[in-house]
Amino acid sequence: MIENRAKTRPIYLDNHATTPMDPEVVSLMEPYWNESFGNPHSSGHFYGWEAEEAVEVSREKVADLIGADTDEIYFTSGATEANNIAIKGVGRFYSSHRKKIITCVSEHMCVLDSAFQLEREGFDVVYLEVDRLGFVDLNELRDAIDEQTILVSIMAANNEIGILQPIEEIAKICSENKVFFHTDAAQAVGKIPINVRKMGVDLMSLTAHKVYGPMGVGALFVSKKNGVKLEPLFSGGGQEKGLRSGTLSTPLCVGFGEAMSLAKNKMNNESRFLKSSRDQMWEYFREHIDGVRLNGCLERRLPGNLNFSFEGVDGASLIAALPDLAFSTGSACTSASEEVSHVLQAIGLSNKQAESTIRIGLGRFTTSEDIQVACDRIASEVIKLRDKPTHYIAAQ
Ligand SMILES: *Cc1c(COP(=O)(O)O)cnc(C)c1O
Repeated sequence: MIENRAKTRPIYLDNHATTPMDPEVVSLMEPYWNESFGNPHSSGHFYGWEAEEAVEVSREKVADLIGADTDEIYFTSGATEANNIAIKGVGRFYSSHRKKIITCVSEHMCVLDSAFQLEREGFDVVYLEVDRLGFVDLNELRDAIDEQTILVSIMAANNEIGILQPIEEIAKICSENKVFFHTDAAQAVGKIPINVRKMGVDLMSLTAHKVYGPMGVGALFVSKKNGVKLEPLFSGGGQEKGLRSGTLSTPLCVGFGEAMSLAKNKMNNESRFLKSSRDQMWEYFREHIDGVRLNGCLERRLPGNLNFSFEGVDGASLIAALPDLAFSTGSACTSASEEVSHVLQAIGLSNKQAESTIRIGLGRFTTSEDIQVACDRIASEVIKLRDKPTHYIAAQ
């Protein structure tokens, strides 16, 4: 029975929402739920030392993937928390003399919401617009920076349309103007080469569950180089050098570290396969379906990301017609309250176009056969829905 059900599980094509854990990650975590259960902050006995050592080895693995030093990695519960600490933490620490931050309209909601909170606290926030492909304009960034500005926060890779912002150029502008630069790299880390030194970023947010690690753990990289200071969000026992109080989860840290090590070893081959699968899928749709548009930019894009609008087809109806596939619509996917994706709006899509959009995220465990099945199934359902006038958005 169970085997039977397992065989009929939908093909998973939503690797931007979360990734399945790599089996090697699961097996390395295993003992830390059981016999090696100690509190990594217990400094007086073996159980604590054992857990602490595992956490520190994991910290090294995380640092290694992004070219950081070990003491620049602060574990958090994920990228949401890391983004909150970075934005509110830097903003509040320097608020007595500099009260302006700059971000971008197509950021993840946790970045935007942190910025909204700072606005309520009296900060001046600039939300840079993006062009039709999703990129920020470097001249607009330059113009927005003034002597009141303390922080720029621009994501490395967009979670909806997969585009890669020009992080090195942004970092250069920030450093020339003596402004700190934070980047949300939740989607980028482990998918494209990242080196915090080469890129020149001061703060970077990471999460494990988008890179085949466990949910509920991530990190904030804080560079020692420019001496950036942050006000913590949590009061407590002063763990993570006072920046993030709370007992670290040893198994989650171990899983995160291993996920980063695996990413380091697998990234080159994996991204080559994902990129060619992605291009193959786009070619297939272009050949077999009229009125399909690829959102974002094909060249500067995450290897496994696709985001399509199918003219005249409602994305939610398409998902409903394809229970054998698991992917998400382009609309209403970043927050429970949002009706139309702010990212798709930002790149100039109408509400109708946004509602006819789907996002596909290919990943480590996607097979060539999955791609072929998904291509055939999506194309045939798009054509079928178009033949049923009641499903046309225009007819609603
Ligand atoms: C998933 C994601 C987040 C949130 O990460 P969590 O670890 O789930 O809190 C933040 N930013 C981006 C770009 C993401 O894709």
